[in-house]
Amino acid sequence: MTRTFLGMPATAPPGVGHLRGDEPFPAAARRALADPQLRRNLGHATGTIRGKSAAVIDEVPDWPQLRAAGAAIKADVMARLPDLLVQLEAAVTAAGGVVHWAADAVEANRIVTGLVAATGADRVIKVKSMVTQEIGLNEALSAAGITPVETDLAELIVQLGEDRPSHILVPAIHRNRAEIREIFLRAMPGVDPGLTDEPVALAAAARRYLRQTFLSTPVAVSGANFAVAETGTLAVVESEGNGRMCLTLPRTLITVMGVEKVIPTWRDLEVFLQLLPRASTGERMNPYTSMWTGVTPGDGPQEFHLVLLDNGRSAVLADPVGRQALHCIRCSACLNVCPVYERTGGHAYGSVYPGPIGAVLSPQLTGVADNASLPYASTLCGACYDACPVMIDIPSILVHLRAEAPHPRAESAAMAAAAYTMDHPTLYAAAQRAARLSRLAGRRGRGLPPPLSGWTASRDLPDPPAETFREWWAAR
Ligand code: SF4
Repeated sequence: MTRTFLGMPATAPPGVGHLRGDEPFPAAARRALADPQLRRNLGHATGTIRGKSAAVIDEVPDWPQLRAAGAAIKADVMARLPDLLVQLEAAVTAAGGVVHWAADAVEANRIVTGLVAATGADRVIKVKSMVTQEIGLNEALSAAGITPVETDLAELIVQLGEDRPSHILVPAIHRNRAEIREIFLRAMPGVDPGLTDEPVALAAAARRYLRQTFLSTPVAVSGANFAVAETGTLAVVESEGNGRMCLTLPRTLITVMGVEKVIPTWRDLEVFLQLLPRASTGERMNPYTSMWTGVTPGDGPQEFHLVLLDNGRSAVLADPVGRQALHCIRCSACLNVCPVYERTGGHAYGSVYPGPIGAVLSPQLTGVADNASLPYASTLCGACYDACPVMIDIPSILVHLRAEAPHPRAESAAMAAAAYTMDHPTLYAAAQRAARLSRLAGRRGRGLPPPLSGWTASRDLPDPPAETFREWWAAR
């Protein structure tokens, strides 16, 4: 049976955005592991969030039922995604917004830069958004002569430090406060040269800089956590209030949203607004939940554009196993419990989506061949599945993608040889005797020889038993 058919959805295009790293995960991870400061920062930050989150989840007696409800709503959304998107478009349009459809990152960047240019603005303020990172919107805006200013504190630290985000929720998790002070002194316009590394002083410096920017910038760009199809309402949740400033002060608001963020009804929000804060920041409710429906004359932005982005999502939807990755509500709980993420940090994953969810989402958005090492960036311990508030079975998707990833020739040849040997009893018995000989020859504990040595570089090669089952059986 051929797996190719006409109209097969396209994956995210290469050369634009941040879904592909410059090197495979093992090489990048090795470098990250050699940085003790990074590991200290990560260990402290993920440990703190884990503790807070576990405490507030324990307070909710129906947490399992809430998770099941979240998973069921998302599964329903995926089953009728096209209809819900058309319903959303109609509702947003009726409320005075304009809806644009972007097949990929290139098209979305073109639409957004065109909309900003049409306003005459040369600067935009941005609400923290994963999807605009995914498509490389900041680079596209800069190339068009428009300055994007990140307003989320952690995103601002990353932007001023000319760095890359390393966590979905806490993009500067790899930085400590001394490093942040250094970045502010170096790159923040008008900063007090006597700035200390006290968190309060750092936050005040950012507030002073951002307040002026909010008041003098007429266009904002945001992502969206949810979009309600029945009413056309968009929702953004955040902790700092900077997002709300962007969503209410400017004249023009442009929202870029992955198509999977739509939910059917207003009532469904009730489930996700309970799940998300407890699983992500360990709060009982989000400090700021901003919702808007189209435009309201005389109140808030007077021009609203919604850009609905595919960028490989239809390809993910087409995979019955992998499509669960589209259920993600970007809480980052799976990152905080992952033993691999906690040691390597987010940069090692190459993509803007790090950790367990990145290991299953990025390869699907780009096509597995372009991120072939990511499905292996996991111990398959299952902690991510247990932590996920919408019960995404990440380990099963990882195993599924490993089967799809291109395998090195040496591995394929070794597997073919093993299959042939196991199919032929005499050969199999001879191989077992040979394995025992290698034990006698003193290979114990030294791993396999090249080209198979990669397999035992991080695994113990078990000693062959002194007596095989066949020999034991024959003796009786
Ligand atoms: S996969 Fe689950 S745990 Fe991970 S970020 Fe998405 S919703 Fe959160």
